[in-house]
Amino acid sequence: DTSTDAGTEDAATLRTPIVAVLGHVDHGKTSLLDKIRGSAVSEGESGAITQHIGATAVPLETISSMAGELVDPDDFDLPGLLFIDTPGHHSFSTLRARGGALADIAILVVDVNDGFQPQTEEAIDIIQRTGTPFVVAANKVDTIPGWNPNEGAPIKASYDAQSERVRSTLDEGLYDIIGDLSSAGFSADLYWRVQEFQRNIGVVPVSAMTGEGVSDLLAVLMGLSQRYMREEMEVDVSGSGVGTVLEVKEERGFGATIDVVVYDGVIREGDTIVVGGMDEPIVTEIRALLQPRPLAEIRTENRFERVDEIEAAAGVKIAAPELDDAMAGAPVMVVRDRPVEAVVDDVRAELAELEVETEEDGVVVKADTLGSLEAMADALREAEIPILRAEVGDIAPRDVAVAGTANEATYRAILGFNVDVLSNAEDELEESEVEVFVDDVIYQLVEDYEAFVEERERAQQETILEKIVRPCRFRILEDHVFRQSDPAVVGVEVLSGTLQNNRHVVAFENNEPERKGQLAGIQEQGEDISEARAGTRVSVAIDGPTVGRQIDEGDELWTELPEKHAKILEQELADEIPADEREALQGYLDKQRSRDPFWGK
Ligand code: GDP
Repeated sequence: DTSTDAGTEDAATLRTPIVAVLGHVDHGKTSLLDKIRGSAVSEGESGAITQHIGATAVPLETISSMAGELVDPDDFDLPGLLFIDTPGHHSFSTLRARGGALADIAILVVDVNDGFQPQTEEAIDIIQRTGTPFVVAANKVDTIPGWNPNEGAPIKASYDAQSERVRSTLDEGLYDIIGDLSSAGFSADLYWRVQEFQRNIGVVPVSAMTGEGVSDLLAVLMGLSQRYMREEMEVDVSGSGVGTVLEVKEERGFGATIDVVVYDGVIREGDTIVVGGMDEPIVTEIRALLQPRPLAEIRTENRFERVDEIEAAAGVKIAAPELDDAMAGAPVMVVRDRPVEAVVDDVRAELAELEVETEEDGVVVKADTLGSLEAMADALREAEIPILRAEVGDIAPRDVAVAGTANEATYRAILGFNVDVLSNAEDELEESEVEVFVDDVIYQLVEDYEAFVEERERAQQETILEKIVRPCRFRILEDHVFRQSDPAVVGVEVLSGTLQNNRHVVAFENNEPERKGQLAGIQEQGEDISEARAGTRVSVAIDGPTVGRQIDEGDELWTELPEKHAKILEQELADEIPADEREALQGYLDKQRSRDPFWGK
């Protein structure tokens, strides 16, 4: 029973843990959040939930009345849970606090029929990197064929009431999820079998549609927070407020405002605050703190009501001058007992921590927030794609200019995450060779860019291969002289490599190459062809020599390889050409190098 040590000594108060919802698109993140809010409201009591700016608070009493015997309020002293309203790992990575995740705990939603999908993996990566505790909501159990719904019931009871066939179908889906979690390095099990939530990930079967399992999910979240995060929830609610910018928004009558999640201390109207800005930290004074008006009172035009102060953890809109350049994902700090400069330094230091490392050459990255920029940088680092410049904001003409300066042609690209291309940048793009990729899914952006690079490189090598002289060794056949000279026409066998028309022909005498003439035609069974591969017998016309003088039956001949071509073939294209061509190339190099060891190097 943890409630007994709640009142010990210090004046620290326990704040609400902040919960984020992550998962693949369409797996039910929004529906689950709606269900939690809806179920809480349908519990009836006023104050069942509180709508904040960008977040919803569900108090302990509401959770315990929803969860029934699963949550005994006497076991808890944390005040409840604060759910961030915007689901998805984009918002999760945007919302940072002191270099880590702002969310204290995460719900990973996985469609129980669909299992792990790319964005599930991406979410797991982010959760892992930020070390955020999480539970898995195996959603849509009601879609299992034959499922017998029990509106709002705890999942174990509902599960036990299903037919054996339904249970085994559900089990299959659940074990797939547990298996995928294990591949990702997490030991997991159905939540009712988990003893140590710190070591094992609990999987809670739920339906965002019927509400089955939602109370279990809340109970697990509450238990996990109470047990393992209580100390981190101890905050000085009279201290200087600290928060993270969720969004920068223009509001009628207020100008640019910032939506902020406050995770420490208190923020008051009139406070001086420092906010992370595009160029420099912004120092300004709060004109108004705004919260949504309760539903019942939305008669007036004004959707917001002013409050004097707000304590962590909470979502609030701050109206203040000079906020146009504030950045989503940046810190907000109240200046109270310390000099402004010290707080500015703190904000600067936190922004620096979020700064992306750039290199001499690479791609340009744009993203809508600092957090997403960092997530992009991480994904690109993993894919070994270097970054020349990384910035928050829409794609502007300047970005096109910068991307155009990349040395490597394939780096002349802009990867934009959740941003627009400004219209004046479009014009610029038309005249440049810079490629633009825009998406709101990170892995998609990286995949698209990689596909582009691959295609470019393939095309490049193809054009090189088209222009380059291919190595060939061939032999004049006995009794196949059709014409002595002007041109000589003889039957040959291609021993290795590819015989191409119009090439110069050499023979090696004591490893000394001697030009014999130039191919003026290749025929196979009376048909003109442009090249002949190893193993074929063809007749060729050679301009220059006379059979019996410069060349003769049984002679071994080679296509003359310019030294530069031989070098490119050996050093860059060896993997692209067939084995027999490599063999011909090697034979040619051996002969040249026995005379001059540095030939073609
Ligand atoms: P999100 O993209 O992860 O936010 O997914 P949504 O919440 O928008 O849900 C995607 C679709 O799945 C919607 O059509 C929802 O109605 C549906 N859906 C979500 N959860 C459930 C569930 O538990 N059961 C059923 N039957 N449908 C669901």
